[in-house]
Amino acid sequence: MALIVQKYGGTSVGSAERIKTVAQRVADTHEAGNDVVVVVSAMGQGTDDLIALASDVTPNPYPREMDMLLTAGERISMALCAMAIHDQGVPAMSLTGSQAGILTTSVHGSAEIMDIRAHRVREGLDDGKVVIVAGFQGVDPVAKEITTLGRGGSDATAVALAAALGADVCEIFTDVDGVFTADPRMVDDARKLDEVSYEEMLELAGAGAGVLMARSVEFGRRYKIPIHVRSSFHDGEGTWVKEETMEEAIIRGVAHDSSEAKVTVHGVPDKPGVAADIFEPLAEAGVNVDMIVQNVSIAGVTDISFTVPKASIDRARQIAERLASEIGAVGVDIDTNIAKVSLVGAGMKSELGIASQMFRVLSDRQINIEMISTSPIRISCVVRGTDVEAAVRSLHDGFQPPSSPEEE
Ligand code: ADP
Ligand code: ASP
Ligand code: MG
Repeated sequence: MALIVQKYGGTSVGSAERIKTVAQRVADTHEAGNDVVVVVSAMGQGTDDLIALASDVTPNPYPREMDMLLTAGERISMALCAMAIHDQGVPAMSLTGSQAGILTTSVHGSAEIMDIRAHRVREGLDDGKVVIVAGFQGVDPVAKEITTLGRGGSDATAVALAAALGADVCEIFTDVDGVFTADPRMVDDARKLDEVSYEEMLELAGAGAGVLMARSVEFGRRYKIPIHVRSSFHDGEGTWVKEETMEEAIIRGVAHDSSEAKVTVHGVPDKPGVAADIFEPLAEAGVNVDMIVQNVSIAGVTDISFTVPKASIDRARQIAERLASEIGAVGVDIDTNIAKVSLVGAGMKSELGIASQMFRVLSDRQINIEMISTSPIRISCVVRGTDVEAAVRSLHDGFQPPSSPEEE
């Protein structure tokens, strides 16, 4: 008998029929003798619909009320799932994130899980029940306020719960068969990976592969929880995210991210302290800066460009414009038509020339590179947003990440 945490994403609980299919799978897992904790997302595009509704009411929704609104999406799914599991003859109980003891920091919209006091979940399991937990939410124990964890946050709920409960596995059921060598909705011949290391998955997720939220992979890595990403539409094996993979691939996959925008501060005086002057206020305002490039200094002035999530662009623009006038810079430009493409693979560490090959593949397609950043196992380039599909496809063709052995 095992303790299994199963997470079902939006598409997987997107209709009454799908919820019944989920209930059947959960009941089968329970009847096979396992303890089961289920984490659910909001139905279908439920979270997007609630965000749109809020923006119809006000252009600046109050963050506290936004979290009160968005947590309702997961609450609907958890109750419906519990009812459907009951109907299968299996006792079930749903809990909100707060009831499940998911304690977070206080930042509305992007709170982080600090601790999980899972005694109510354990009690439910001890009573022989399936426990269904609303994903993506928790409570700030100091202010006693409800919080959300950021988009895709149900993955973090699931893996963190698996860690807190000492589960044997965390299964992430989604609308694709596993983690692919590129987004299968963009690259037709992308291939499912049998396995990927935490380290690689962290880089892929951070570079835009939205199949898992990066923070969930961090929990997996820290607490050594095997994560099985698989389809909710059939029983086939998916992708195992784990410590070690059988083979170290030079390139495991290609990821892309069109969710960022570029800010350029022109004519910045090139002297010590200026970068700190720009980036400290951005950090204080909670703007998450990703890539940074500083140009060559000419006649004592330089340009500094950086990327931020499009969702933070208004805040970033305001801060950059204020700072530009304070430090005597010439002006600020915003560019929302950018995308980032990345190559990820643990074998890159010991292989020379991957970056230059990547630049060659992009230049062969006449794709201009605007910014570059690297980690030991990732190379990322910012390109025009309109070039992103061509960039991802040509990199996938050019590097041929490994396929699953059974497909060879
Ligand atoms: P869920 O609602 O189940 O959490 P998401 O939409 O968050 O589902 O994540 C699944 C989606 O992630 C897929 O539909 C796919 O388009 C996208 N995706 C991006 N990169 C990858 C990748 N490398 N492998 C698999 N899916 C990916
Ligand atoms: N419903 C939330 C979202 O759409 C959380 C999740 O699905 O993981 O981002
Ligand atoms: Mg998701």
